[in-house]
Amino acid sequence: MTPTTPEQALAELYAGNRRFVGGAPRHPNQDADHRTAVADGQHPFAVIVGCSDSRLAAEIIFDRGLGDLFVVRTAGHTVGPEVLGSVEYAVTVLGTPLIVVLGHDSCGAVQAARDVATTGTPPPGHLGAVVDAVVPSLQRAAEQGVTSIDEIVDIHIAHTVEALLANSAVLADHVTAGRCAVVGMSYRLSAGEVRTVTTVPAGEPAVPGQTASATPAVTG
Ligand SMILES: [Zn+2]
Repeated sequence: MTPTTPEQALAELYAGNRRFVGGAPRHPNQDADHRTAVADGQHPFAVIVGCSDSRLAAEIIFDRGLGDLFVVRTAGHTVGPEVLGSVEYAVTVLGTPLIVVLGHDSCGAVQAARDVATTGTPPPGHLGAVVDAVVPSLQRAAEQGVTSIDEIVDIHIAHTVEALLANSAVLADHVTAGRCAVVGMSYRLSAGEVRTVTTVPAGEPAVPGQTASATPAVTG
């Protein structure tokens, strides 16, 4: 059954990721019959706002298929107007109950932003827009004395969750009304597993395998 609540959707993503990590994916909803069944309409149960990194393919790492995930990916999961509009479409028109911000260790966009901050050399072309979107996360990391790239990635994931809600009254209203939740997740490239970094509302939806209190809230 297709998940209809944030809790069910998160549990389904974790279940699929466990299958993927364990080397026993089921590849659900990828057959011709299902392709035909969803041709007339889609009801994805999660929006994935992920990094474009080629090793972070959402349907593969969550072991899902056609019609399951509404995926928006940019380098460093940076959030601009087109991304916000796409997420709002999924939540308001398609009724998707869960938004996941998906980052990962060794993120090249975060590393590139840090290199720019270190050298002071601006990147060529439009890469500057990606770097600019990561800079606030670097500043927050510096304020907290965080220097490791993977800890900075966690901060950037939490920052992206905040940016979605701060820049979209539509999304914030849906979360306040309990129709939707936002979860920040980090993926480990070598192990293939995801871990929850933050949830909004704090502690909801409950993360499978964790107690609600073990889930850190977004901090300022
Ligand atoms: Zn990345």
